[in-house]
Amino acid sequence: MPMLEGKTGIVLGVANKRSIAWAIAQALAREGMRLAFTYQGDRLKESVTELASTLENTSLILPCDVTSDAEIDAVFRSVDEQFGRLDVLVHSVAFAPREDLENDFVKTSREGFKLAHDISAYSLVALTRAALPLFEKNGSGSVLALTYHGAVKAVEGYNLMGVAKASLEASVRYLAANLGPKNVRVNAVSAGPVNTLAARGIKGFTTMLHHHAEKAPLRRNVELEEVANAALFLASPMSSGITGEVLYVDCGYNIVGL
Ligand code: NAP
Repeated sequence: MPMLEGKTGIVLGVANKRSIAWAIAQALAREGMRLAFTYQGDRLKESVTELASTLENTSLILPCDVTSDAEIDAVFRSVDEQFGRLDVLVHSVAFAPREDLENDFVKTSREGFKLAHDISAYSLVALTRAALPLFEKNGSGSVLALTYHGAVKAVEGYNLMGVAKASLEASVRYLAANLGPKNVRVNAVSAGPVNTLAARGIKGFTTMLHHHAEKAPLRRNVELEEVANAALFLASPMSSGITGEVLYVDCGYNIVGL
């Protein structure tokens, strides 16, 4: 029997077929999970609907700009009405204004800083809070976020997004500590660079890819499926003893000193 038969999840952050969120959704669906997807603005509705239609289990597709509390509330109301339960929340959303990524870090704008943190870090707290009543109904829940090594090391070109990811990783730990007594686990996957829409916003991304492949112990870049399989592990009961963790899936890059 598939590992996640009878379970339901919600995935935020599918933009197209290269999105990490889409690879994770496919892994969860492969194991029998029924999924809800969200999209930001009508621009992405068609693409998300088309991808979701390729999955076996009927999916729910809802609008959600994570800066809107009203949209977040509406999403979880619909999930409750349609699914009646929720087991997994996948947060695969990030944004920083291009000029704040490209400029010298010291020039980061106040507005850009706020927006990047709102979308890329605070949203994890807001979404987890909205999902909590559904998790409590089940007696358990698993929340998963996507992060990058630029949260803990200064990575050229990653700038403001690195600071937002540091906040996201700290939020993972505080949420895990807060919600552990309710049997809700909160973890993150720290993925090596993958060529996606968001990644192309990072100046010098191609150089970053080459550098990782050269220096990582496995001497290559990580595959989307490898990130998705680690996410599947953290989302599933296979990882029932793990919470507040940041699991690197980067071909070992982060362990290397020189
Ligand atoms: P992606 O396909 O571009 O996904 C990013 C998603 O965030 C898009 O669906 C985007 O929608 C969404 N988003 C941005 N602002 C939003 C908002 N206000 N409300 C709702 N959704 C919003 O890129 P990805 O690389 O798969 O990124 C997924 C996650 O993985 C991110 O957290 C990223 O930082 C992380 N990550 C990526 C890499 C990498 O190398 N690619 C490595 C480590 C971690 P729009 O397109 O409409 O903006």
